Amino acid sequence: MSDGIPESVTQQDRGARNHVRSDLGSAATPVTYFAVPMQQQFAANEQAVATKPYAGAFAHDPTVPLDWAKSIQDGPMSPDEANSPTEADLAALVANVDSYADSGYTVLEGPTGYVQSRMVMPGVTSEMMRWWFVWSPLESERYTLWFPQAHISNWVEDPDRIADTSLSFEERFYNNVNYVKEYIGSQALPIEIHFTTPSEIGLDEAALKAAGFTISASGYCCFGMAPEITTMLMVHLGRDTDQGMEWVSRYWIGTHPAMRRFPGGDKAAALFEKLGMDKDGLLNLAYELSVHDMTEYTNLARILPGLFARFSKEA
Ligand code: ZN
Repeated sequence: MSDGIPESVTQQDRGARNHVRSDLGSAATPVTYFAVPMQQQFAANEQAVATKPYAGAFAHDPTVPLDWAKSIQDGPMSPDEANSPTEADLAALVANVDSYADSGYTVLEGPTGYVQSRMVMPGVTSEMMRWWFVWSPLESERYTLWFPQAHISNWVEDPDRIADTSLSFEERFYNNVNYVKEYIGSQALPIEIHFTTPSEIGLDEAALKAAGFTISASGYCCFGMAPEITTMLMVHLGRDTDQGMEWVSRYWIGTHPAMRRFPGGDKAAALFEKLGMDKDGLLNLAYELSVHDMTEYTNLARILPGLFARFSKEA
Protein backbone atom coordinates (compact mmCIF):
# COMPACT_ATOMS: atom_id res chain seq x y z
CA MET A 1 0.00 0.00 0.00
CA SER A 2 1.37 3.35 -1.00
CA ASP A 3 -0.12 5.14 2.01
CA GLY A 4 1.87 3.08 4.47
CA ILE A 5 -1.01 0.98 5.80
CA PRO A 6 0.31 -2.58 6.15
CA GLU A 7 -0.97 -4.74 3.32
CA SER A 8 -2.45 -7.26 5.71
CA VAL A 9 -4.87 -4.59 6.91
CA THR A 10 -6.60 -4.22 3.59
CA GLN A 11 -6.67 -7.83 2.51
CA GLN A 12 -9.27 -10.55 2.23
CA ASP A 13 -10.65 -12.72 4.98
CA ARG A 14 -11.23 -10.03 7.61
CA GLY A 15 -14.94 -9.92 6.96
CA ALA A 16 -16.10 -13.17 8.48
CA ARG A 17 -13.90 -12.86 11.53
CA ASN A 18 -14.99 -9.29 12.20
CA HIS A 19 -18.63 -10.27 12.18
CA VAL A 20 -18.37 -12.23 15.42
CA ARG A 21 -20.99 -11.30 17.99
CA SER A 22 -19.71 -9.67 21.13
CA ASP A 23 -22.76 -10.30 23.29
CA LEU A 24 -22.10 -10.78 26.95
CA GLY A 25 -23.64 -14.22 27.02
CA SER A 26 -20.72 -15.67 25.04
CA ALA A 27 -17.58 -17.22 26.57
CA ALA A 28 -15.52 -14.79 28.62
CA THR A 29 -11.83 -14.38 29.29
CA PRO A 30 -10.16 -12.53 32.15
CA VAL A 31 -8.24 -9.41 31.14
CA THR A 32 -4.71 -10.71 31.70
CA TYR A 33 -2.61 -7.64 30.93
CA PHE A 34 -2.61 -4.23 32.58
CA ALA A 35 0.28 -1.79 32.12
CA VAL A 36 2.20 -1.12 35.35
CA PRO A 37 0.79 2.42 35.85
CA MET A 38 -2.70 0.91 35.59
CA GLN A 39 -1.87 -1.66 38.26
CA GLN A 40 -0.79 1.20 40.50
CA GLN A 41 -3.91 3.22 39.66
CA PHE A 42 -6.07 0.24 40.59
CA ALA A 43 -4.50 0.12 44.06
CA ALA A 44 -5.08 3.85 44.56
CA ASN A 45 -8.67 3.63 43.31
CA GLU A 46 -9.41 0.62 45.50
CA GLN A 47 -8.34 2.59 48.56
CA ALA A 48 -10.30 5.70 47.53
CA VAL A 49 -13.54 3.85 46.84
CA ALA A 50 -13.45 1.70 50.00
CA THR A 51 -15.55 4.05 52.15
CA LYS A 52 -18.18 4.75 49.48
CA PRO A 53 -21.61 3.09 49.65
CA TYR A 54 -21.09 1.71 46.13
CA ALA A 55 -17.69 0.11 46.86
CA GLY A 56 -19.22 -3.33 46.26
CA ALA A 57 -19.45 -2.54 42.54
CA PHE A 58 -15.68 -2.01 42.26
CA ALA A 59 -14.65 -5.00 40.14
CA HIS A 60 -11.34 -6.71 40.87
CA ASP A 61 -11.12 -9.16 38.00
CA PRO A 62 -12.67 -7.80 34.82
CA THR A 63 -13.54 -10.26 32.09
CA VAL A 64 -14.41 -9.59 28.47
CA PRO A 65 -16.07 -11.67 25.72
CA LEU A 66 -13.45 -14.04 24.34
CA ASP A 67 -14.54 -13.60 20.71
CA TRP A 68 -14.30 -9.84 21.01
CA ALA A 69 -10.82 -9.94 22.55
CA LYS A 70 -9.60 -12.32 19.86
CA SER A 71 -11.13 -10.33 17.00
CA ILE A 72 -9.13 -7.21 17.87
CA GLN A 73 -5.99 -9.18 18.76
CA ASP A 74 -5.84 -10.44 15.20
CA GLY A 75 -4.89 -7.03 13.89
CA PRO A 76 -6.53 -4.00 12.31
CA MET A 77 -9.72 -4.25 10.28
CA SER A 78 -9.90 -3.07 6.68
CA PRO A 79 -10.37 0.72 6.52
CA ASP A 80 -12.86 0.02 3.71
CA GLU A 81 -15.23 -1.52 6.27
CA ALA A 82 -14.99 1.39 8.71
CA ASN A 83 -17.12 4.51 9.07
CA SER A 84 -15.51 7.86 8.42
CA PRO A 85 -16.46 10.85 10.61
CA THR A 86 -18.42 12.53 7.79
CA GLU A 87 -22.09 13.34 8.31
CA ALA A 88 -22.93 10.97 5.43
CA ASP A 89 -21.15 8.08 7.13
CA LEU A 90 -22.79 8.84 10.47
CA ALA A 91 -26.13 8.60 8.66
CA ALA A 92 -25.08 5.30 7.07
CA LEU A 93 -24.18 3.94 10.50
CA VAL A 94 -27.51 4.90 12.06
CA ALA A 95 -29.45 3.40 9.15
CA ASN A 96 -27.44 0.15 8.93
CA VAL A 97 -25.84 -0.69 12.28
CA ASP A 98 -26.13 -4.42 11.57
CA SER A 99 -24.08 -4.19 8.39
CA TYR A 100 -20.90 -3.34 10.33
CA ALA A 101 -18.65 -5.65 12.32
CA ASP A 102 -19.20 -5.69 16.07
CA SER A 103 -15.60 -4.79 16.83
CA GLY A 104 -12.50 -3.49 15.16
CA TYR A 105 -9.84 -0.85 14.97
CA THR A 106 -7.72 0.61 12.22
CA VAL A 107 -6.24 3.84 10.92
CA LEU A 108 -8.05 5.99 8.35
CA GLU A 109 -6.98 8.94 6.24
CA GLY A 110 -5.63 11.99 8.07
CA PRO A 111 -4.16 9.88 9.68
CA THR A 112 -7.00 9.06 12.06
CA GLY A 113 -7.11 6.27 14.60
CA TYR A 114 -10.48 4.50 14.48
CA VAL A 115 -12.39 2.14 16.78
CA GLN A 116 -15.82 0.57 16.38
CA SER A 117 -17.84 -1.61 18.70
CA ARG A 118 -21.34 -2.87 19.22
CA MET A 119 -22.63 -4.90 22.11
CA VAL A 120 -25.90 -5.99 23.69
CA MET A 121 -26.12 -5.61 27.45
CA PRO A 122 -28.60 -8.07 29.03
CA GLY A 123 -30.55 -6.55 31.91
CA VAL A 124 -29.51 -3.00 30.98
CA THR A 125 -31.91 -0.36 29.65
CA SER A 126 -31.27 2.98 28.01
CA GLU A 127 -32.88 4.60 31.06
CA MET A 128 -30.08 3.10 33.20
CA MET A 129 -27.47 4.39 30.79
CA ARG A 130 -28.90 7.91 30.85
CA TRP A 131 -28.74 7.82 34.65
CA TRP A 132 -25.15 6.54 34.58
CA PHE A 133 -23.94 9.45 32.46
CA VAL A 134 -25.33 12.04 34.89
CA TRP A 135 -24.58 10.15 38.13
CA SER A 136 -21.02 8.93 37.51
CA PRO A 137 -19.33 12.32 36.87
CA LEU A 138 -20.32 13.67 40.30
CA GLU A 139 -17.52 11.84 42.17
CA SER A 140 -14.28 10.54 40.70
CA GLU A 141 -14.72 7.36 42.74
CA ARG A 142 -17.94 6.64 40.84
CA TYR A 143 -16.04 7.10 37.62
CA THR A 144 -13.42 4.54 38.73
CA LEU A 145 -16.15 1.86 39.04
CA TRP A 146 -16.42 1.95 35.26
CA PHE A 147 -12.82 0.82 34.68
CA PRO A 148 -10.99 0.35 38.00
CA GLN A 149 -7.53 -0.02 36.43
CA ALA A 150 -7.77 2.86 33.95
CA HIS A 151 -9.99 5.63 35.26
CA ILE A 152 -8.34 8.31 37.36
CA SER A 153 -10.75 11.22 37.71
CA ASN A 154 -13.70 13.07 36.25
CA TRP A 155 -15.50 16.29 37.00
CA VAL A 156 -17.94 18.42 35.06
CA GLU A 157 -18.08 22.07 34.20
CA ASP A 158 -21.45 22.58 35.93
CA PRO A 159 -22.00 19.96 38.65
CA ASP A 160 -25.19 21.68 39.88
CA ARG A 161 -26.80 21.35 36.48
CA ILE A 162 -25.80 17.71 35.98
CA ALA A 163 -27.18 16.91 39.45
CA ASP A 164 -30.48 18.78 38.92
CA THR A 165 -33.16 16.08 38.76
CA SER A 166 -35.79 18.63 37.75
CA LEU A 167 -34.10 18.82 34.34
CA SER A 168 -34.15 16.25 31.54
CA PHE A 169 -31.15 14.03 30.84
CA GLU A 170 -30.39 16.14 27.78
CA GLU A 171 -30.51 19.40 29.75
CA ARG A 172 -28.26 18.02 32.47
CA PHE A 173 -25.74 16.27 30.25
CA TYR A 174 -25.24 18.12 26.97
CA ASN A 175 -22.79 21.01 26.68
CA ASN A 176 -21.59 20.40 30.23
CA VAL A 177 -17.92 19.55 29.65
CA ASN A 178 -16.58 16.35 31.28
CA TYR A 179 -12.93 16.70 32.31
CA VAL A 180 -11.71 13.12 32.44
CA LYS A 181 -8.32 11.63 33.07
CA GLU A 182 -7.78 7.99 32.23
CA TYR A 183 -5.23 5.52 30.98
CA ILE A 184 -5.48 4.52 27.35
CA GLY A 185 -2.88 1.78 27.43
CA SER A 186 0.01 2.95 29.58
CA GLN A 187 -0.63 6.61 28.73
CA ALA A 188 -2.64 8.78 31.17
CA LEU A 189 -4.61 11.17 28.97
CA PRO A 190 -6.46 14.26 30.19
CA ILE A 191 -9.46 14.62 27.87
CA GLU A 192 -12.16 17.26 27.72
CA ILE A 193 -15.35 15.68 26.40
CA HIS A 194 -17.93 18.01 24.91
CA PHE A 195 -21.05 15.87 24.92
CA THR A 196 -23.52 17.59 22.62
CA THR A 197 -26.95 17.11 21.13
CA PRO A 198 -26.74 14.60 18.28
CA SER A 199 -27.36 17.27 15.65
CA GLU A 200 -24.41 19.38 16.84
CA ILE A 201 -22.00 16.68 15.69
CA GLY A 202 -23.87 15.90 12.49
CA LEU A 203 -26.24 13.10 13.50
CA ASP A 204 -29.78 13.33 12.14
CA GLU A 205 -32.12 13.28 15.16
CA ALA A 206 -35.16 12.16 13.14
CA ALA A 207 -33.13 9.24 11.75
CA LEU A 208 -31.97 8.28 15.25
CA LYS A 209 -35.56 8.28 16.44
CA ALA A 210 -36.69 6.24 13.45
CA ALA A 211 -33.97 3.66 14.20
CA GLY A 212 -35.14 3.44 17.82
CA PHE A 213 -32.15 5.08 19.52
CA THR A 214 -33.12 6.64 22.84
CA ILE A 215 -29.75 7.80 24.16
CA SER A 216 -26.81 9.53 22.55
CA ALA A 217 -23.67 10.09 24.63
CA SER A 218 -21.73 11.54 21.73
CA GLY A 219 -19.53 14.54 21.25
CA TYR A 220 -16.19 15.95 20.30
CA CYS A 221 -13.10 15.90 22.52
CA CYS A 222 -9.91 17.85 23.10
CA PHE A 223 -6.75 16.84 24.91
CA GLY A 224 -6.36 18.68 28.23
CA MET A 225 -3.06 20.20 27.09
CA ALA A 226 -4.73 21.84 24.05
CA PRO A 227 -8.36 22.44 25.01
CA GLU A 228 -9.08 24.67 22.00
CA ILE A 229 -8.26 21.96 19.44
CA THR A 230 -10.69 19.14 18.62
CA THR A 231 -8.74 15.90 18.30
CA MET A 232 -11.43 13.27 18.66
CA LEU A 233 -15.04 12.50 17.75
CA MET A 234 -16.89 9.96 19.83
CA VAL A 235 -20.29 8.43 19.08
CA HIS A 236 -22.22 6.29 21.58
CA LEU A 237 -25.81 5.38 20.72
CA GLY A 238 -28.14 3.14 22.70
CA ARG A 239 -31.50 1.51 22.04
CA ASP A 240 -33.55 -1.05 23.91
CA THR A 241 -34.04 -4.53 22.49
CA ASP A 242 -35.64 -7.73 23.80
CA GLN A 243 -32.15 -8.99 24.70
CA GLY A 244 -31.05 -5.83 26.53
CA MET A 245 -29.72 -2.45 25.54
CA GLU A 246 -27.78 -2.36 22.30
CA TRP A 247 -24.80 0.00 22.52
CA VAL A 248 -23.05 1.20 19.39
CA SER A 249 -19.75 3.09 19.64
CA ARG A 250 -17.37 4.80 17.22
CA TYR A 251 -14.19 6.80 17.95
CA TRP A 252 -12.03 8.84 15.60
CA ILE A 253 -8.78 10.38 16.86
CA GLY A 254 -6.76 12.38 14.37
CA THR A 255 -6.89 14.74 11.47
CA HIS A 256 -9.48 13.35 9.07
CA PRO A 257 -10.67 16.24 6.84
CA ALA A 258 -14.23 15.83 8.20
CA MET A 259 -12.95 16.64 11.70
CA ARG A 260 -12.34 20.23 10.62
CA ARG A 261 -16.00 21.03 11.18
CA PHE A 262 -15.38 20.93 14.94
CA PRO A 263 -13.84 23.79 16.98
CA GLY A 264 -10.10 24.09 16.32
CA GLY A 265 -10.16 21.00 14.09
CA ASP A 266 -8.01 22.79 11.52
CA LYS A 267 -5.19 23.04 14.08
CA ALA A 268 -5.16 19.33 14.95
CA ALA A 269 -2.54 18.32 12.38
CA ALA A 270 0.08 20.62 13.90
CA LEU A 271 -0.76 19.36 17.38
CA PHE A 272 -0.45 15.67 16.47
CA GLU A 273 2.86 16.43 14.78
CA LYS A 274 4.09 18.22 17.90
CA LEU A 275 3.01 15.26 20.03
CA GLY A 276 4.81 12.87 17.68
CA MET A 277 1.58 10.95 17.00
CA ASP A 278 2.00 9.67 13.46
CA LYS A 279 0.12 6.92 11.62
CA ASP A 280 1.82 4.13 13.56
CA GLY A 281 1.22 5.92 16.86
CA LEU A 282 -2.46 6.43 16.06
CA LEU A 283 -2.89 2.81 15.02
CA ASN A 284 -1.38 1.76 18.33
CA LEU A 285 -3.60 4.21 20.23
CA ALA A 286 -6.64 2.88 18.35
CA TYR A 287 -5.89 -0.67 19.50
CA GLU A 288 -5.39 0.48 23.09
CA LEU A 289 -8.66 2.42 22.91
CA SER A 290 -10.38 -0.63 21.46
CA VAL A 291 -9.25 -2.72 24.45
CA HIS A 292 -10.30 0.10 26.79
CA ASP A 293 -13.76 0.38 25.23
CA MET A 294 -14.27 -3.40 25.35
CA THR A 295 -13.20 -3.61 28.99
CA GLU A 296 -15.11 -0.62 30.34
CA TYR A 297 -18.43 -1.30 28.62
CA THR A 298 -18.35 -5.01 29.42
CA ASN A 299 -17.73 -4.09 33.05
CA LEU A 300 -20.37 -1.34 33.07
CA ALA A 301 -22.95 -3.75 31.63
CA ARG A 302 -22.37 -6.02 34.63
CA ILE A 303 -22.46 -3.41 37.40
CA LEU A 304 -25.05 -0.97 36.05
CA PRO A 305 -28.31 -2.82 36.87
CA GLY A 306 -27.26 -3.21 40.52
CA LEU A 307 -26.07 0.38 40.86
CA PHE A 308 -29.23 1.70 39.24
CA ALA A 309 -31.48 -0.33 41.54
CA ARG A 310 -29.67 0.88 44.63
CA PHE A 311 -28.76 4.50 43.87
CA SER A 312 -30.95 5.94 41.12
CA LYS A 313 -33.67 7.04 43.53
CA GLU A 314 -31.14 9.31 45.23
CA ALA A 315 -30.03 11.20 42.11
ZN1 ZN B 1 -12.74 5.00 29.94
